[in-house]
Amino acid sequence: MDKWEYSESIESDSIVSIQSKYGHFIDGKFSTPNSKKYLKTVSPSTEEVLASISVGNKNDVDSAVNSAKEGFKIWSKTSPSERAKYLYKLARLIQERSREFAVLESMDGGKPIKESRDFDLPQVAANFFYFAGWADKLDISWGTKEIKPYGVVGQIIPWNFPLLMLAWKVAPALATGNTVVLKPAETTPLTALLFAELCEEVGLPKGVFNLVTGDGTTGSELVNHEGISKIAFTGSTSVGKYIQNAVGERDIGLTLELGGKAANIVYNDAALDQAVEGVVNGIFFNQGHVCCAGSRLLLQEDIHDEFINKLEKRMQTLRVGNPLDKNTDIGAINSKEQLDKITSLVNEGVNDGGELFQIECALPSEGYWYRPSLFTNVQPSYNIAREEIFGPVLTTLTFRTPEEAVEIANNTEYGLSAGVWTEKGSKILWTADRLDAGVIWANTFNKFDPSSPFGGYKESGFGREGGRHGLLSYLKVRS
Ligand code: NAP
Ligand code: MG
Repeated sequence: MDKWEYSESIESDSIVSIQSKYGHFIDGKFSTPNSKKYLKTVSPSTEEVLASISVGNKNDVDSAVNSAKEGFKIWSKTSPSERAKYLYKLARLIQERSREFAVLESMDGGKPIKESRDFDLPQVAANFFYFAGWADKLDISWGTKEIKPYGVVGQIIPWNFPLLMLAWKVAPALATGNTVVLKPAETTPLTALLFAELCEEVGLPKGVFNLVTGDGTTGSELVNHEGISKIAFTGSTSVGKYIQNAVGERDIGLTLELGGKAANIVYNDAALDQAVEGVVNGIFFNQGHVCCAGSRLLLQEDIHDEFINKLEKRMQTLRVGNPLDKNTDIGAINSKEQLDKITSLVNEGVNDGGELFQIECALPSEGYWYRPSLFTNVQPSYNIAREEIFGPVLTTLTFRTPEEAVEIANNTEYGLSAGVWTEKGSKILWTADRLDAGVIWANTFNKFDPSSPFGGYKESGFGREGGRHGLLSYLKVRS
């Protein structure tokens, strides 16, 4: 069946106002960078320059850490219920201005507006509400154990869920009495800068939240700053390893949320049409720029042909294009660099012998785009079955028995997430019990809640974000 043609339904960008140039947010106000250096953030769907952002150097990071130290003197003495009030205020303001944030997120990062509007922003607000609720319950939650915040926390986040990763980090850190220096990704700094404006608006005491924009060198300055008591990092495994080595000799806290190569296991007794929807959501959500994406489809051998047939038909209905069009399913690839990485890994997969299916669709002439893609006839040794592609590319492997499914699923350096599709509850439990993954979804995928801890095993990192476990990432607990 041909897909229906919809008229365009473009979300207006008139709600956002972007400045041509931004400074850092330090000591409660925006300031020009000591480095005098700027880089440009572009819209990946149009390649248009949206703004110049400051590149933080050693001195900029130093000012931010000093500001956070001063902020800590006030914040650590602010009563828990007062801290909660600020977080509730931030949560409500985020809700009030969620359309503006969603449009800005889609412009700067390329994700479809229906995702930034219906997923990212509601989750961002939910995280601030959730952790606001914890702020005055910490003392009673660890029995007689003494709990203390770390102090100044350095937080470094990636570009795939820019504001949501900020929320996952900033909300629990502030709720537990720490102060923050945050470094957003260089391709997606704009929603973090808008968030800094909200901090001003709610009157958050100076120095409690500091934002230093820039690139990897800025992140490295933050990691190596002596005034930091804890680093919380989300990003690639390679940078995670660098950070772990860099802080190795210092007595500071560290949590790493890194990459993944999740198995999405479909048994032959699964409801296949539902599983197809789950598999599509698992890999094509956010252009596949998702650390917990179900990027390895594990199909029981006897349903392989039927499933692939259904999956290809469903993939063909996906709409690729303008992120601000409300009908768009797949937006722009976040950067030229990421597009090149995806293209090169897919070419390698074809050369290795994988069979590639890509949907037929027109792509805009400007911007960075990649057609939803599916590999079959893949050997577990191929790079496309091992490396995180971080794009809209699904790799299929097959298995015959549950034991074999588990073996293939665990045959990876990563251990972040997994999915299991079967009508039998006992099989779900049997399989989940044996999977080395921090999060396992059954008959669904990519479901998130602030109360549910998220994090990995093996090269996917350590530490948890979300829930009571997530608070522990920002507290020192002594018995
Ligand atoms: P990345 O290259 O590791 O970058 C992450 C952040 O680290 C960015 O802000 C980056 O700055 C900064 N950075 C780069 N080099 C640094 C250095 N030497 N020292 C300190 N900071 C440095 O990762 P990415 O490509 O942005 O993000 C994709 C990766 O994140 C994927 O592997 C994905 O799986 C992972 N991820 C994991 C989770 C999770 O919860 N486990 C969630 C989302 C994403 P620049 O932007 O300027 O390079
Ligand atoms: Mg950008």
